[in-house]
Amino acid sequence: MRLQYDPELKQFREEIRAFITDVLPPEMQERQRTKVLNNATVEDQQEWMRILHAHGRSVPHWPVEYGGCGWTPQQLFVFNEELYAADAPEFDWGGTHMLGPVLYTFGSQYLQDKFLPAIREGHYNWAQGFSEPGSGSDLASLRTSAELQGDTYIVNGQKIWTSGAAHAEWAFFLVRTDKTVKPQRGISFLIVKMDTPGITVRQIPQINGEAHLCEVFLENVEVPADQLIGEPGMGWTYAKFLLEHERTTSSFIYWSKRELARAKDIARGENIDGVRIADLPAFRARFAKVEADLLALEWSVLRVLAHEETPFPEAAAASVLKIRGSELQQEITLLQVDALGAKSLRYFEPSPVAPPASEIWPDYVAGRTTVALITRAATIYGGTKQVQKNILAKLAFGR
Ligand SMILES: Cc1cc2nc3c(=O)[nH]c(=O)nc-3n(C[C@H](O)[C@H](O)[C@H](O)COP(=O)(O)OP(=O)(O)OC[C@H]3O[C@@H](n4cnc5c(N)ncnc54)[C@H](O)[C@@H]3O)c2cc1C
Repeated sequence: MRLQYDPELKQFREEIRAFITDVLPPEMQERQRTKVLNNATVEDQQEWMRILHAHGRSVPHWPVEYGGCGWTPQQLFVFNEELYAADAPEFDWGGTHMLGPVLYTFGSQYLQDKFLPAIREGHYNWAQGFSEPGSGSDLASLRTSAELQGDTYIVNGQKIWTSGAAHAEWAFFLVRTDKTVKPQRGISFLIVKMDTPGITVRQIPQINGEAHLCEVFLENVEVPADQLIGEPGMGWTYAKFLLEHERTTSSFIYWSKRELARAKDIARGENIDGVRIADLPAFRARFAKVEADLLALEWSVLRVLAHEETPFPEAAAASVLKIRGSELQQEITLLQVDALGAKSLRYFEPSPVAPPASEIWPDYVAGRTTVALITRAATIYGGTKQVQKNILAKLAFGR
């Protein structure tokens, strides 16, 4: 196996780099580079989507007929990597990567016409309402109900850990439409406008100073029946499609590479008793290990993207990549915090952007503790590490 990118892919990378330099507004880039919080502001995210859309690149991974770029998986990989390396805001993941593919694969023409252009153009922020108190890993036990009355669903129940719900204009919910069949068969996939009467959103204060996660209470919420995706009772199938898709992209190599580069900046810029962190043998060993692990994961991802033959099903690879990707995110952010020491606590406050950098407080300090703390959740969301291991055991070893 040759561990190097094809010349065409290198050329593609150069083109993407030049494209980003051309279109990413420097102020937005600066805000993203020095942000204290984990997430970009809604305004920056939406504006960035509009800019990408103006160049036909806001949903490059979608099929061409829906506005995608027709790129290979390797090109998409490079595109994501270059966006993050350039400190561009992230996509509105809920719309572009979760709901979008479900909509163009299973949604009615009406829903596709209504929402696909809006997602492409970055009009809305989306929330994903799957988890409930008591129904996380065991999602099939969810209890939020949607009862059809005429041409309206009446929704009652509670969701929890709904990321970004406080700022979301729309959300997609898993709801129970039939209690008489086996749990998986009674679930449906419903699109709901978040300002519909009967919806209450309560933000959950997080240990990292943010309140991005929310509880969503639904009390007699009236939702037009034509906002149900596909067939009633098929929501479980659509959700599995979404989650498998989410896991394949959840190795977050592009993120880890950017953060490792930041960790190296920290190690070069900081010192203990006059010795650069980068020159301390213990830190050097940690850097070497993380770098080797990340490189191994990167090539594993590329092998999956190239559809290299393997005796294991694709879902097994997705679970392995999810586990290793999330573990590495945690190792890298801890490395940043350890290298900064007590300095890492400086921007532990809910203000979006760090004050101007100085010699003592360089940009790279901003947000490190916030990000390290939220990264603990990487082995929980999108399917916990333990549950991924169960999936692997079943797929790979048949039990
Ligand atoms: C930062 C963050 C963002 C999130 N965003 C969203 C969102 O936007 N929308 C949404 O719907 N949900 C979201 N979630 C919820 C997430 O999907 C759930 O937290 C996750 O599925 C785990 O469910 P749970 O929290 O109920 O834990 P539980 O399922 O109760 O699990 C608790 C522990 O038991 C272990 N466990 C459970 N079952 C098994 C088993 N069968 N075998 C072995 N171990 C097991 C788990 O691995 C875990 O360690 C988010 C969570 C976090 C932390």
